[in-house]
Amino acid sequence: MKHRDDYFRNSMGAKTEPLVMFLDMNCYFASCEQQRHPELRGKPVGVLTYDSPNAAVIAASKEAKIFGVKSGMSLSDCRMLCPEMITTVTHPAWYRIIHVDVMNIMRSYCDDVIPKSIDEAVANFYSYRLVYNDLTEVARQIKADIKKKYDYLTCSIGIAPNSFLAKVGTGLQKVDGLVVITPDNIDDYLAKMKLTDLPGIATRNERRLLLTGIRTPLEMRHASAALLRKVFGGVVGDYWHRRLNFGEVDMYNKVENRTMSATRTMSSQQSRDRQQLESMLISLCTRLEQRMVKGGLFCKEIYFGIRYRDGSKWETTIKLADPVQDAMELRSYIYERITDFEQSRGLKTVFTDKVTNLNVGIQSFVKNTVMQYSLFDNRIKKDTVRKVMYQIKDHFEQKDIVRKGSELFNPHVMKDAIGFGSVRDMLVKNGEVKNKHLLEEDALPGEPRKIVIKKKPPPAPPPEYEEVDHEYTGPEYDDVPMIEAQ
Ligand SMILES: [Mg+2]
Repeated sequence: MKHRDDYFRNSMGAKTEPLVMFLDMNCYFASCEQQRHPELRGKPVGVLTYDSPNAAVIAASKEAKIFGVKSGMSLSDCRMLCPEMITTVTHPAWYRIIHVDVMNIMRSYCDDVIPKSIDEAVANFYSYRLVYNDLTEVARQIKADIKKKYDYLTCSIGIAPNSFLAKVGTGLQKVDGLVVITPDNIDDYLAKMKLTDLPGIATRNERRLLLTGIRTPLEMRHASAALLRKVFGGVVGDYWHRRLNFGEVDMYNKVENRTMSATRTMSSQQSRDRQQLESMLISLCTRLEQRMVKGGLFCKEIYFGIRYRDGSKWETTIKLADPVQDAMELRSYIYERITDFEQSRGLKTVFTDKVTNLNVGIQSFVKNTVMQYSLFDNRIKKDTVRKVMYQIKDHFEQKDIVRKGSELFNPHVMKDAIGFGSVRDMLVKNGEVKNKHLLEEDALPGEPRKIVIKKKPPPAPPPEYEEVDHEYTGPEYDDVPMIEAQ
């Protein structure tokens, strides 16, 4: 299946040696629960954000997946597929401890490890090409080291010339996998895949590709950069061309800041109380505010969506001329839209007792250092106050010593939160793993963990990776859900 252009493609400046390793923990949250509770091992387990019959399952064990249970499904749907499924609530502090341990295991083999999410990381072994003869042996060692520490945890490892293809490799063998993608076998693998099997290609991108006559990942790899530019609109098409032809696009860019979102699933009891729904919205906005303050960011686009029990949705996207950061400002923009909609339809309220899910997303970020303050408002003062408040919270490490009025509105809904797609919240302080955006850390019994960074072999000369500006190409908002745990 080797294309005659391969030789040419491979000399386009891309490095084709498989020196990038991607690690993806299998059924992460569910396996972590099974690790801590041996009585759950070998059984179908669903992990919930909170204990309620209306909750959504955010992670399923491999035993539950056999029954067709998928993350994001409502508990009642899961029960229909798998009546004997055991449920447990999330324990984010535990997942973070294991995350840090897994990262340290990887770092004992390579100093260039970049965590991509709570259960994924990429390691660039380019500097170690003279140190290790066989990266599959290193991968087996990493798996063995993880197993030694956490005997129930498995991971899939992909090895390829770039981080994108290495990630593709982790998807090819779902449990305890180890796949090496090289210029010699890439076409055979791609030929067996669907377009939507590629990370970042969801139905919308698939539709665009099909319209141009590109039906498979293999055809996509052999499409010209010019054609892909047409499909994706500009430079994003070039990125896709490079990803599939061994160029590096994804390794060092900060994927986390493309979008941030916070979402919350309601019980029917919660949705009966309009005040509860409104305070949920404030808590979601406050979470996003915290993350923007910490990142020194403002946003210019807000998304708000409500999902109802019958599967219908109400959603709105707000583009702003002036970037915002303040939770109550986010909320008031959302309210403006809601009020407009309710009045134009003669509706009493969109916050009905049929609400099952609220989701706030933000994107189009602006760094605070480049913010243009308008001369005639008190933004600077307000922004300073907000920053100082978070500094005080950090300083006293007692996140609830100082609270904003908005946090007091319904403090018990603001607890720990864990992002599937983000590890920015992770902080190691005095050897303890903490979430730096937390208001209250969830308690975990046992000693605080000491983090030991092991000695690494001396690295070879530094890699010559190209730096590429990255544009977001994946599905909007949905790919990095924030799960609020109670
Ligand atoms: Mg995983």
